[in-house]
Amino acid sequence: MAGSRTIFVAGAGIGGLTVSLALAARGFRVVILEKSERLEEIGAGLQLSPNASRVLVALGLQPRLAGRAVTPEAISLMSVRSGGEVARLQLGEVAARSAGAPYWVVHRADLQAALHAEVNEHHDIELRLGCQFEDVASHAKGLTVVHRSGMTRQQDLALALIGADGIWSAVRHHLFPHVQPQFSGLIAWRGTLDATQLPREYASRGVQLWMGPNAHLVAYPISGARQINIVAMVPGTWNRPGWSAPGDGNELRNTFASPRWPGPARMMVAAVDGWRKFALFTVPDGGQWTQGAIALLGDSAHAMLPFAAQGAGMAIEDAAVLARCLAEVQNEGGPAMAAALQRYARERRPRVARV
Ligand SMILES: Cc1cc2nc3c(=O)[nH]c(=O)nc-3n(C[C@H](O)[C@H](O)[C@H](O)COP(=O)(O)OP(=O)(O)OC[C@H]3O[C@@H](n4cnc5c(N)ncnc54)[C@H](O)[C@@H]3O)c2cc1C
Repeated sequence: MAGSRTIFVAGAGIGGLTVSLALAARGFRVVILEKSERLEEIGAGLQLSPNASRVLVALGLQPRLAGRAVTPEAISLMSVRSGGEVARLQLGEVAARSAGAPYWVVHRADLQAALHAEVNEHHDIELRLGCQFEDVASHAKGLTVVHRSGMTRQQDLALALIGADGIWSAVRHHLFPHVQPQFSGLIAWRGTLDATQLPREYASRGVQLWMGPNAHLVAYPISGARQINIVAMVPGTWNRPGWSAPGDGNELRNTFASPRWPGPARMMVAAVDGWRKFALFTVPDGGQWTQGAIALLGDSAHAMLPFAAQGAGMAIEDAAVLARCLAEVQNEGGPAMAAALQRYARERRPRVARV
């Protein structure tokens, strides 16, 4: 399946799967190239505020996420001094009605599985697992996209290429090799707990945010509230790429051992068995996102720190805007396609920079 209306997407992460569904809903055929052999259960929780969940609801994902995504009752800012709540942003069903879409907390693997299942059922989307984007060339007929599966290198014609291949994007490297992810000096540690392991008040259906001396702790329910996702952000120098390096729990427990951290926060950190860690990188603001009929989307364009909990949300918003811009030109190639992608970037850049 390749030809005049076919758009290639590099990466079957949250952004790549969403943009594929959004493009197919606008009448395009889509081929997704994903370098992993399987969409694995790596990663932990993601927060999706209504600006992002609205896009997923419009794409028909809500039934697939029912029973997995949790709508938290509130976001609570917790005092490190007293251990109690100092500020509260009410969420829940009432807030969802007024925003027109829910606030969701969800395991990344559950969201990816829901998007994957939707993609599999779509006749106009082909997902090629174990297939890595390698190269692209522009010419009068559009693009030639080169990809590799094992030892086999192949190429296809495409109307456009979307680089949704994450922070270490090969598509971005091909277009703008001078743009390099920058290490932030922060490391995110994540782990999950069975909700039954915590006293009820700390296993509630809310997001808890603790900001303390030299660290930052976030806890919220995932997997239908059966599990609690815990993330601790701490400064450090360890800066290897990747999403799931094993972490030594003692190192983290020492960070939280200070009596300045209250009992409940220390209890949550102590209760996690298998910590994983990832170094936090960003893609510097100000680089280009498009070149001709090629565009970047999500982390490949604008990987950000997680403090606003908008990394996945911005990739999902990008997907909706990009599909709308391309729908305006449908199967016109060349200059019209390039202009549509520039419109996408012009619309998204100020929004992403503000977030
Ligand atoms: C395995 C994994 C686990 C993660 N876990 C967390 C987490 O626990 N917490 C958190 O906040 N964020 C996590 N993230 C990042 C988070 O998903 C993103 O910040 C956000 O969702 C934006 O997504 P994205 O689609 O732009 O990029 P990503 O979700 O990173 O997806 C990029 C996809 O592109 C694929 N890819 C890369 N290079 C190529 C290539 N050359 N050819 C084809 N495919 C390619 C990757 O395998 C991946 O599937 C994780 C990302 C990954 C890939």
